[in-house]
Amino acid sequence: MDHFTYKDGVLHAEDVSLVDIAATVGTPVYVYSAATLTRHFKLFEEALGWAESHLICFAIKSNSNLAVLKLLGDLGAGMDVVSGGEYLRAKAAGLPGERIVFSGVGKTREEIALVLDGGIRQFNVESEPELQAISELAAARGLRAPIALRVNPDVDAKTHEKIATGKSENKFGIPIAKARDVYAMAAALPGIDIVGVDVHIGSQLTDLEPFEQAFLKVAELTRALRADGHDIRRLDLGGGLGIPYERSNSAPPLPIEYGEVIKRTVGDLGCEIEIEPGRLISGNAGILVSSVVYLKEGEGRDFLILDAAMNDLVRPSMYGAYHDIVPVQEAAAGVEQAPVDIVGPVCETGDTFAKARQMPPVAAGDLVAFRSAGAYGAVMASEYNSRPLIPEVLVQGDHFAVIRQRPSYEEMLSRDSIPEWL
Ligand SMILES: *Cc1c(COP(=O)(O)O)cnc(C)c1O
Repeated sequence: MDHFTYKDGVLHAEDVSLVDIAATVGTPVYVYSAATLTRHFKLFEEALGWAESHLICFAIKSNSNLAVLKLLGDLGAGMDVVSGGEYLRAKAAGLPGERIVFSGVGKTREEIALVLDGGIRQFNVESEPELQAISELAAARGLRAPIALRVNPDVDAKTHEKIATGKSENKFGIPIAKARDVYAMAAALPGIDIVGVDVHIGSQLTDLEPFEQAFLKVAELTRALRADGHDIRRLDLGGGLGIPYERSNSAPPLPIEYGEVIKRTVGDLGCEIEIEPGRLISGNAGILVSSVVYLKEGEGRDFLILDAAMNDLVRPSMYGAYHDIVPVQEAAAGVEQAPVDIVGPVCETGDTFAKARQMPPVAAGDLVAFRSAGAYGAVMASEYNSRPLIPEVLVQGDHFAVIRQRPSYEEMLSRDSIPEWL
């Protein structure tokens, strides 16, 4: 459930009309709902209510706007970061280091040093050389860095190949069969404090079965590691729970059911439970509002040309992802729909949001909204075709604020410089 609904025939974000936001801020624009973000975070809190100790670490790569992070941090969320930049965003939003976990397969020495100096809950370590680097940098500071090894359980997440991470052929994690050896090596390093085990098998999972398989393997490993003498007190089970992008025909599992899988598989180990949901918290909490620039009649098909493009929302061209696209002015009941190709203005055929999509009639100047655009939307945007990054707006109840300004053309150009020898 989200808080984007029609009121008096106009799509609203909570109590604010999207027509009003578009008139004030312009289009394209991302609009987020505070009530939806809050609701989704609380669903996970409920789902882990059985666990004596737990932390929900929002995967900020899905949506890293400081206002979104502040809202979730104030609710008690931790943060899962995958770069030095994300770490600094979490800090800037007011998160203490003890609530930030650092994941990622290629942490540089600069990033490791930054995070050691600023404070961190744990490193999720993905390789032996990374372990060595962390130990060295921590020992040089007289510290022991808290770590969990990210294990690769070799399970098929049954999701899009570009976002599956838990098979042995993926670049992620340490093969689970090798994990005991690597833990033994970690225990011998001077700058390392082993605190737990970490796993993350992929994104947009619409079935609980792969989670169950992975968590059972983590439980078995935890018992073995304890028998080896390691104090495994924390399990980080990653993110990945999917959302219904296509409302009409999909119903992925609910957080409460996911929480039951966790309880059933690792609940008896007495570990602190961490999870790293991104998409499920931010995805349906955001929409992208765009204007129709032209209606173009092609041969055998019509094109709806929008002012939003693949540089603003890349998921359709990158993953073939589906987004519901709806008119902001609600279509009259019983009005006939017709198929159109919905495209952006970028000079690539890949700049297509939907093909032969059934839409009610819309005209140039009308507003449309892409649903479920709050995750992996704004964060993946670029300035391709020299289109400035688009603004972000947060709505709460009957008010809204711009939480990222649209840069001017001057600002965009000012970042380049022409060397004096030209
Ligand atoms: C991407 C990612 C997540 C979040 O995945 P979602 O599908 O957005 O929940 C969590 N943990 C790690 C390590 C990730 O790379």
